[in-house]
Amino acid sequence: MDLHNGELYWPTTLKNRQSNHKNPPIAAHYDVVIVGAGMSGALSAYTLSQEGLKIAIVDKQTAASGSSSANTGLLQFSNDIMLHELIEQIGEENAVRFYHLCQQAVEQLEEVSKTLPESSELIRRKSICFASTEEDVKKLMKEYDALIKNNFPVEYWTKEELESHLPFSKPAALITYGDAEVNPYLFVNNIFSYLKNKDVHLFEQVEVRNVQETKDKVTVDTSIGTFSASNVIYATGYETPPIGDRIGADINRSYAIATEPIEDLSQWEDKMLIWETKRPYLYLRTTTDGRIIAGGLDEDEPEAPQNESWIDNRATRLKQEIEKLFPMQTVEVAYSWGASFGESLDNLPYIGKQPDKGRIFYLLGYGGNGTVYSMLGSHILRDLILQRPNKDAELVKLDR
Ligand SMILES: Cc1cc2nc3c(=O)[nH]c(=O)nc-3n(C[C@H](O)[C@H](O)[C@H](O)COP(=O)(O)OP(=O)(O)OC[C@H]3O[C@@H](n4cnc5c(N)ncnc54)[C@H](O)[C@@H]3O)c2cc1C
Repeated sequence: MDLHNGELYWPTTLKNRQSNHKNPPIAAHYDVVIVGAGMSGALSAYTLSQEGLKIAIVDKQTAASGSSSANTGLLQFSNDIMLHELIEQIGEENAVRFYHLCQQAVEQLEEVSKTLPESSELIRRKSICFASTEEDVKKLMKEYDALIKNNFPVEYWTKEELESHLPFSKPAALITYGDAEVNPYLFVNNIFSYLKNKDVHLFEQVEVRNVQETKDKVTVDTSIGTFSASNVIYATGYETPPIGDRIGADINRSYAIATEPIEDLSQWEDKMLIWETKRPYLYLRTTTDGRIIAGGLDEDEPEAPQNESWIDNRATRLKQEIEKLFPMQTVEVAYSWGASFGESLDNLPYIGKQPDKGRIFYLLGYGGNGTVYSMLGSHILRDLILQRPNKDAELVKLDR
């Protein structure tokens, strides 16, 4: 399955990728073998290696070359499902707990980035979620009430207040604090460079073909031989996981562009992350070299688009959306891509143990907040593997 097509921006920002990565010899036994070296695999390896466990990560391609290189890198505690909607779905206590986990995960992502020797361009930002239509103002007010009642950092802006901060007009907006942006490709690669010095084994261009659990271990058959492990984590992203037909996931596709650097972004207050109430939504951010990244236009097709002129057409539409919001800017598209994008039917990620197995785990961060889910999921899996209590595991377990 092609996870993305078109021309990606992030891989151009990594100047010194070690193209001569050499796989290490397979060790006699690993505490954990992680299948997939994207954001989920990298963060799981990072979190587990802090516990002194012996880890191997195996990817059939190269690290960060899957969806993690198509990721636009917005890190937010607000989810595609608003807090008041999640409260209706799973009750107030669980919904608020899940939002808190996402808020903590943004903090934890920043903490991880600070331990890495190279910068991953992780910068704390506030976010604006504007009402796409007059009818959505009510929804925003309801969300404001739910967030403020539960002490999340949020402000409500009227149309006039919004106009005094930004060069476009919308009926109302919520401003949330404590979010961040990141360069996901640098982040994953920086984590693997750091882990190399911690004796974590990264195997690239190695496909996992079969995983068999016996009473006291798991054997992992790959294209270069068999690995023995105490536990296996599938961090395989949007590809069909072995547990079944994508459990409760819905795989769509989405588009993104990165513009040429823009001379003057001063009208964009605090370079806040921008999104909206409409579904599917348009979203925008800036980059450290002065570009705008915009994404959206989701379509109900699982395969990344194969056709270049199709991607060009969507890129033009995204450029027009930027020009509507920032009319004084001259916007030129430099990179454009289309990619598979997975969401779960109940808007929560799938993280946990395979119900009929003892040593096989999944970290499937379906949803617009995938990176935040990868982070919080790595902590949940650490606790499950080390048999520590974790009350949050119930919220995201596979058989919910
Ligand atoms: C256009 C777009 C924009 C996005 N924007 C955001 C955003 O702003 N913020 C956010 O938080 N999230 C965003 N996401 C979601 C985010 O990209 C994903 O959550 C994240 O990349 C998932 O990482 P992963 O490690 O689970 O998957 P991947 O990065 O896809 O990694 C999975 C890896 O598993 C490997 N693999 C699969 N099967 C096997 C096998 N049998 N053997 C060996 N290796 C295997 C693959 O080769 C791949 O490298 C976006 C996604 C897209 C597509």
